[in-house]
Amino acid sequence: MPESSQEWFERVSAEIERSGRRSSDWAQWSSWPFEGELTPKPLDPPAQEPPRRGLGGEGCFICDKLAAGDRTYVFWEDEHAILGVPAEPRALPFAAFLMPRVHADLADLPLPSAARMGELLTLIERAACDVLDVPRIQAARWGDGQEHLHWWLFARPTGMRQLRGTFLSHWDDVLPSAPIEQLRADLDLVAARLVELAGGRAFPG
Ligand SMILES: [Zn+2]
Repeated sequence: MPESSQEWFERVSAEIERSGRRSSDWAQWSSWPFEGELTPKPLDPPAQEPPRRGLGGEGCFICDKLAAGDRTYVFWEDEHAILGVPAEPRALPFAAFLMPRVHADLADLPLPSAARMGELLTLIERAACDVLDVPRIQAARWGDGQEHLHWWLFARPTGMRQLRGTFLSHWDDVLPSAPIEQLRADLDLVAARLVELAGGRAFPG
């Protein structure tokens, strides 16, 4: 019988009481962006899951921007998927959201759109590596507060080995950002290349 959330919490809390937390060796990783000691927070007990924003498509800002034809947000689209521009300036040379056109989360995404988004992950990486000085793309499914599926896509500058892997988004948060216009111009280059590789339509900003 799998553990319930409450059982998991009680077991882990008891283990913390008994022998403390596991020690992390992050500080030894060359990609860890910080120096000095960090103190883990106390572990909160499980609570009711809050509803995600845009539940069922109601008040979903992604669907609203699509319906309004907002090209400042959507910079590429095809019949299954769209690419969106982050709202905030970023330090990294590539940052974008890959999202389905239909309002869906990962588990209820129609399979033809899921298949196309899988292809697009490959083709977006090719496009970005063709036109920007980046070695690959990192993909993450965060955004647990929003129901509409959005993959975060990030890339680091080629050769910036310190930014490889797990902490790439942390580096993005602490390094000085470039103007949003620069990010958008680079995203437009990627979109133009993506049209050559994958079809669809680009909307230069
Ligand atoms: Zn939506």
